Amino acid sequence: MATNFPSPQNRAALLGLAPFEAGWVWLAGAGPGDPGLITVLGLHAIEHADVILHDALVNEALLKLARPGAELVYAGKRAGRASCKQSDISRTLVSLARKGKRVLRLKGGDPFVFGRGAEEALTLARAGVPFRIVPGVTAGIGGLAYAGIPLTHRDTNHAVTFITGHGADGKLPKLDWASVAKATPTLVLYMARGFAGEIADLLIANGRSGDEPAAIVSDATNGKQNVVVATLSQLGEAAAASAAPAIIVIGENVKLREGLDWLGAMGGKFLAPDPLSTDTLRAAI
Ligand code: SAH
Repeated sequence: MATNFPSPQNRAALLGLAPFEAGWVWLAGAGPGDPGLITVLGLHAIEHADVILHDALVNEALLKLARPGAELVYAGKRAGRASCKQSDISRTLVSLARKGKRVLRLKGGDPFVFGRGAEEALTLARAGVPFRIVPGVTAGIGGLAYAGIPLTHRDTNHAVTFITGHGADGKLPKLDWASVAKATPTLVLYMARGFAGEIADLLIANGRSGDEPAAIVSDATNGKQNVVVATLSQLGEAAAASAAPAIIVIGENVKLREGLDWLGAMGGKFLAPDPLSTDTLRAAI
């Protein structure tokens, strides 16, 4: 019967989703691009918000699900568009909440992964504004999955390091690159197109092989996705030629794309049955 069909209204009740109370700020992740990758709680927040402050990386299709009359405010900081100061965004969140609005701060990917969500949340906490964090699918995991690159595989890596290629001062972050090079077989780099060559040189100087596979996933999951596979020594050049936004992954797990590029397979690409050549390896052992 149609009356029993789960509607968006009773979906919240069926799932026990938290009500979006007036005077609250929800900081939510919208996922990396494909609107289908938002969480149910994130969608619920969009449907109930009075005001939505969104980033440049949020898929605008999601904003069409805002309730009629909801105010949509662009609060991003990307090149080419007027950018908002972080302090202004935080102040706006506080003042809207104090007016009794349901305020949704919608960010690309996950709000607590290289997204300044923590800075905004701390301002809310200091101002005594109640807030909720709604995690999202981060580009460094979901974006790779759409490129057919699993974050881990037990034959390639037992650990991963997430790195931002862009420090708060706009320079390469001051990391112990010798330790980074040695610590984990797989590295995932955000905001690293500009410094990719420098990072690759540092990794090679600290013991990584220049032949190691790397991939640059531009516009991951959003329909314009483009993947370039290169070696670590070619990474700087390949990154310079790539489009933004891009996520970069370095490590043997990149090879799995030959067998797992499911999006490519939909376009007729042949998937290699044994991309790590483990059968041959095992036979040889
Ligand atoms: N909070 C976001 C990251 C924001 S930092 C998250 O969790 O995903 C912005 C960086 O994220 C970009 O420079 C890029 O490295 C990465 N990124 C975000 N969306 C992306 C996409 N659709 N494709 C490729 N990289 C993306």
